[in-house]
Amino acid sequence: MVGEIWMLHRVVEHVSNVPEQQELEVTAIWLEQKILEYQRQGYTFVSIDNLPKRGRWVCLTFDDGYRDNYTIAYPLLKRLGVPFTVYVTSGFIDNRSPMWWYPDQQLGMSAEELRLLDLDPLCTIGAHTVSHPKLDTLTKAQQYKEIAESKQWLEQLLGHPIQHFSFPHGAHNDDTLAICRKLGFHTVVQSWGGPLRRGENPYPLPRINMTIK
Ligand SMILES: [Zn+2]
Repeated sequence: MVGEIWMLHRVVEHVSNVPEQQELEVTAIWLEQKILEYQRQGYTFVSIDNLPKRGRWVCLTFDDGYRDNYTIAYPLLKRLGVPFTVYVTSGFIDNRSPMWWYPDQQLGMSAEELRLLDLDPLCTIGAHTVSHPKLDTLTKAQQYKEIAESKQWLEQLLGHPIQHFSFPHGAHNDDTLAICRKLGFHTVVQSWGGPLRRGENPYPLPRINMTIK
């Protein structure tokens, strides 16, 4: 048995020519081919809400809350019937705080787009802090604020509990894990670690960074 949790960010029509941005981008065509290739090999695509204990499966996740997750990835995944999770940095919604790695661009999803995604059972919304800091550089109180406020903001907008969390930059320490457990997150994911083997249910869960290269 092998389970793979894929980490993605942006889904675009054409990749950028800025190398640091390319690492965050896949094309819709590439993603569709990758999904079909795995389905041909017998993998099932599953939701983070229901990770299987056996079999071969893939769980698709997107970090940050880019608008293209709604405009480009969602129609593709809807057509293929593939479940997915979007981990939202609450400050990026409606572009209230900048994504500093994309200067002068407004790439965040709107609150309305987020609400529409959340209404589809194929999509699970998770939290990803308020401002996308490296959590292991913050005090425990600062970490608590970043994590709890993003969860509460999303719960207020969407009207239901938020049960999954992703560490920005994968960065975390023992305080982060204690806070996430205390806030009741069912799963937390990091940004590396490869596939899951039979019977494993770690906290945090490993992911595989999916890039075109
Ligand atoms: Zn992120």
